[in-house]
Amino acid sequence: MFALKLNPNDKLDVAPVLIVGAGPTGLAAAMSLARAHIPVRLVDRAREPSPYSRAIGIQARTLELFEQHRIVKPFLELGHRARVANLYSNGQRLARLDFDPLQTRYPYLLFLGNLCTTRFQSADVLRFASYRSRRWPAGD
Ligand SMILES: Cc1cc2nc3c(=O)[nH]c(=O)nc-3n(C[C@H](O)[C@H](O)[C@H](O)COP(=O)(O)OP(=O)(O)OC[C@H]3O[C@@H](n4cnc5c(N)ncnc54)[C@H](O)[C@@H]3O)c2cc1C
Repeated sequence: MFALKLNPNDKLDVAPVLIVGAGPTGLAAAMSLARAHIPVRLVDRAREPSPYSRAIGIQARTLELFEQHRIVKPFLELGHRARVANLYSNGQRLARLDFDPLQTRYPYLLFLGNLCTTRFQSADVLRFASYRSRRWPAGD
């Protein structure tokens, strides 16, 4: 199990919010709390972040949220923009997804593995918080 204990503001006398799971969801919660100077303790049962990606594409709404957190730039620099996606099976096109009509600054699916996503999210959390990092024994 790995854990980050974040104390963004030593003068803030509130118990840290415990976030269980350091995947994209837990990290998104930590990003928002750390930015609000609310102490966060982020724990995960895995000893290390997974080396395997579990996602290849980032949706427009996620990019909008990353824009609000001012971290969208590295995603846009690294990712590949797909404005249209065609889904095939046995040589036959099953569906066509056209992202152009989306009312957003990001009318596309941004191809980028989620190892990059969680790395950028982690960096953002740590940017807003001094922290201690330690491994927690299983069951702690
Ligand atoms: C094959 C595949 C392809 C996908 N492709 C895409 C895609 O292209 N685009 C997209 O947006 N999404 C995609 N997804 C979905 C995306 O991976 C998930 O939506 C995303 O990972 C969910 O994030 P999460 O933080 O909620 O959960 P997870 O990524 O599962 O993270 C949960 C974390 O919590 C930890 N944890 C779980 N239980 C405990 C516990 N009891 N105690 C402590 N820690 C715990 C785990 O170790 C893990 O690190 C895909 C999923 C799969 C399986």
